[in-house]
Amino acid sequence: MPEHVDDGRTSPPVRYRAVFADRDGTLNPDFHYLSDPERYEFLPGVIEGIRLLRRHGFRVICVTNQSGVGRGFFSEARLREIHARIDERLAKAGAPLDAFYYCPHRPEEGCACRKPGTQLFERARAEHSLDLAGSAIIGDRSMDMEVGSRLGLLSVLVPERGVEAEIERELGAHGVHPDLRAGSFLGAVHLLLGRG
Ligand SMILES: [Mg+2]
Ligand SMILES: [Zn+2]
Repeated sequence: MPEHVDDGRTSPPVRYRAVFADRDGTLNPDFHYLSDPERYEFLPGVIEGIRLLRRHGFRVICVTNQSGVGRGFFSEARLREIHARIDERLAKAGAPLDAFYYCPHRPEEGCACRKPGTQLFERARAEHSLDLAGSAIIGDRSMDMEVGSRLGLLSVLVPERGVEAEIERELGAHGVHPDLRAGSFLGAVHLLLGRG
């Protein structure tokens, strides 16, 4: 009897934990249809937060609704240019994102990829071997929290300064309850890491 018998089973595939980050109002101030890559800026603490997440082994993936494309405010090529610029700046800072996923459609198109639709997250799961049960979402709006609860992600709300009341109304209207709340992206990261 050989010591190791190959019974044809393979070991379970590696699955990575991810933090999904919303873009506008979460990584950057909500510019409302930013079309100029030169004007892009990160919110304070975001770069450090991404760096920390990566150091702790999380994949960091941005999922964003960009209806400005569907509304004709800017082209998909321009959007990709903005994302390339963000990538470049984060990579230089030692805090690269693993991927961007975006929905370019208008809300009334009824697509499956616009948050709170789950399609982009399912794609990310398949393309990056993610363990969604061990993953989280950080976002500033009700739709981010809603998709988080649909997928069983731990959801952390970081409401943008000055629109907290509007966001609370949104959450109430949709019956959505974030798992955690933080005052900043970095605060959200500390909360997540503190939970182990
Ligand atoms: Mg947002
Ligand atoms: Zn879409």
